[in-house]
Amino acid sequence: MEPNIDQLRKNYEQLDDQKLIQLATEKATSLRPEALNVLKTILKERGLPDSILAGINAQFKEIKESDLLEYTELIRKLPCPICNSSNEKLNATMVGTVISFIVMTQYKKELIIACPNCLDDQNKRAMRKSALFGWWGFPWGIINTIQALIFNSRMKKQNRQSEANDLLNDFVVERIGRIEASRNNVEELKLIIKYIR
Ligand SMILES: [Zn+2]
Repeated sequence: MEPNIDQLRKNYEQLDDQKLIQLATEKATSLRPEALNVLKTILKERGLPDSILAGINAQFKEIKESDLLEYTELIRKLPCPICNSSNEKLNATMVGTVISFIVMTQYKKELIIACPNCLDDQNKRAMRKSALFGWWGFPWGIINTIQALIFNSRMKKQNRQSEANDLLNDFVVERIGRIEASRNNVEELKLIIKYIR
């Protein structure tokens, strides 16, 4: 049975501000309309900023190309979360790293947003690390290490694209609510790209 309004209210009231904001800016479209209304009421009661409401609305809007460009630029103009430089616009890469343990091989992929130089470094580091620690697991260590070397060099090709690459565009689309809610708050925007979730 779905919880009624009172139960919803009780559930949401137990959440701290941080969790409420997370729910509002990341999961608004997954809530039933009455749940969303309760959430909006509680946000208002707690005196949380209107930008969070804008973050909710952004998730329901169809994203036009011009909107996407605007959000992407907000992200690209931030200082690099790795070297702190603002010389070049940021982009995204996926880093694939293979590490073998005694009988186990782990192939991990991670999204990173940074300036082109740092992105290149991250791909190169992953290749070095995989070549050192990945290959000796049998048979997956060898197979995955070869895959990772190919994967990183393919990803690296997108690092110096002058426009936002597909990885960055996807990242932005999936986080429209959070970015809209933080559009006037550089420190918040920095957190979104530094601790990717
Ligand atoms: Zn950098």
